[in-house]
Amino acid sequence: MRLTREVPAHVETLELRWLSRDFLVMSPAVRRTREKHKMAAITCQWCGHAFADGEMVALAAIPMAINATLCQACCASAEAADAAPLQQPTDGGPDEA
Ligand SMILES: [Zn+2]
Repeated sequence: MRLTREVPAHVETLELRWLSRDFLVMSPAVRRTREKHKMAAITCQWCGHAFADGEMVALAAIPMAINATLCQACCASAEAADAAPLQQPTDGGPDEA
């Protein structure tokens, strides 16, 4: 037996306390060190991007969580969100054009 229904899409938001855009350059040495300490490979913790050698890894502080590695595209999105005013949800009322 199974019940299925569509649910509305939702928006997930991650607040960052600070962001270090140029935290680490991905390299074979970084990979070896992480493997030696049995640590998982570094990926962007927001979009899942796998870093290539020579690519810059950013670090962000997240309240009540450990720091997160981010790719440059996600950094740009976070910085653009700071520059833009917060969007309020609209209900499509009579004032809407
Ligand atoms: Zn990303």
